[in-house]
Amino acid sequence: MSTLFRMNFTKSPYNTILQNYTIQNHTAPRFLFCANGRFLRYNGCMKVYLHSIGCRLNQSEMETLGRQLLAAGHEIVSDAAQADKVVINTCAVTAEAARDARTVTRRIHRHNDTAEILLTGCYATISPAKLAQVEGAGQVIANEEKSRLLHILDPQAGHDLPLYEQEPILRQFLAGSSSNTRAFIKAQDGCDNRCTFCVTTIARGDGRSRHLGDIVAEIQALVAAGYQEAVLTGVHLGSYGRDLGNNTGLRELVAAILAHTDMPRLRLSSLEPWDIPTNFFDLWQNRRLLPHLHMPLQSGSDTTLRRMARRTNRASFRDLTAVARTAIPHLNLTTDVIVGFPGETEAEFAASLDFVHEIGFSRLHVFPYSARPGTAAARMPNQLPQTVKKERARQMIDAGRQLSLAFHQAYEGKRMDVLWETAVGANGAGLKWIGYSDNYIRVQASGPADLSNRITPTHLHSARPDGMMGVVSRASEEPTLNF
Ligand code: SF4
Repeated sequence: MSTLFRMNFTKSPYNTILQNYTIQNHTAPRFLFCANGRFLRYNGCMKVYLHSIGCRLNQSEMETLGRQLLAAGHEIVSDAAQADKVVINTCAVTAEAARDARTVTRRIHRHNDTAEILLTGCYATISPAKLAQVEGAGQVIANEEKSRLLHILDPQAGHDLPLYEQEPILRQFLAGSSSNTRAFIKAQDGCDNRCTFCVTTIARGDGRSRHLGDIVAEIQALVAAGYQEAVLTGVHLGSYGRDLGNNTGLRELVAAILAHTDMPRLRLSSLEPWDIPTNFFDLWQNRRLLPHLHMPLQSGSDTTLRRMARRTNRASFRDLTAVARTAIPHLNLTTDVIVGFPGETEAEFAASLDFVHEIGFSRLHVFPYSARPGTAAARMPNQLPQTVKKERARQMIDAGRQLSLAFHQAYEGKRMDVLWETAVGANGAGLKWIGYSDNYIRVQASGPADLSNRITPTHLHSARPDGMMGVVSRASEEPTLNF
């Protein structure tokens, strides 16, 4: 289960892909031609707004759908008010995420009551009836139908174009993503574990891996288009390949990407802390594999971990992180923690709090437990009151802020390579840029207008819990901190 976060296509980045093509907009329907004038597609062009709630896997899926829609001659818009169709990829991992899906649906409908709103994802899969009743909700599409979304939106899509005709758009489109610096690539879906709190495994089914060659080809296309970073995503990335009969599949996948693509930076999104082969961390000898691991702990109490049916405990987690830290200098180790799990005693919570300090994570994503329908934990006795969960969340979040600050303080005065992603404003010194260091420190610095998608050495200073300030270095200065 990955960290919660939200993505929408605020910059309409896919539109840039059409620069090499001519859209002749007589009246709808539109005609789309290649740059060489060859007819590519005839279609009623739709404006589609894509919104993703939850994990990076959801984001990756919306990026893929966006590529498919563009290839089919449609337009991705950044403002739901302009859309003919809206697709919301929902999340069910917490009650809050589910509520978010309902709120976003209502809000979009209020701003644009003519757009059809299609709802898919985990919440749409486990609570379709509830979601269908939300004001503005249109079709509700379960995860197993998600791969047909393109054809649900446009029944003609993909049937009338031979692959060689679609390929130029697809190749360029794969370059286009939610930010045009970092792309999320889905390597697998589903999970064979049954952690007792987890609704994801109910909503997404057993583990299914994509073929290694397809993933490598996708990343090659992203490189050709100028992407600087690829993030491998999956519900249970560590199980990659197992359904294909390969127990060291993730290691082989990462090695293949490093060997057969020139992607400058490769990151793993989230890795469950088990089933990791002993030589796995050797891969980080290749510095293009970034020193950042997100390993969900969920609890630092062995008894709570057993009730959660997690396949780890304090000792094995401790050993694993020690091996990882030895192999990966400057490792940024982040995690997810659930507080207030059914039956969590004061002593168990104290053990959990103590353990996150002992491991010294650099960032905690804290989730107050919320019972998800259909899960074993929802049926457990001793569900805790909201007040207890709230207070424990407050303490854990506070611990996370202290740990983040300490991690960032260790980098004050150091130089790191930063990939610049987004300008968030301007001041007298130029634009205010946000970017990420190799080891995923969020850095803000002033810089010129052409900093986007560039990796520059950067002096770090002014640590805060949420990141650091930076000064972009001149190329002639001393080398960047070497991993
Ligand atoms: S490992 Fe556990 S928490 Fe993660 S997706 Fe599988 S069942 Fe859910």
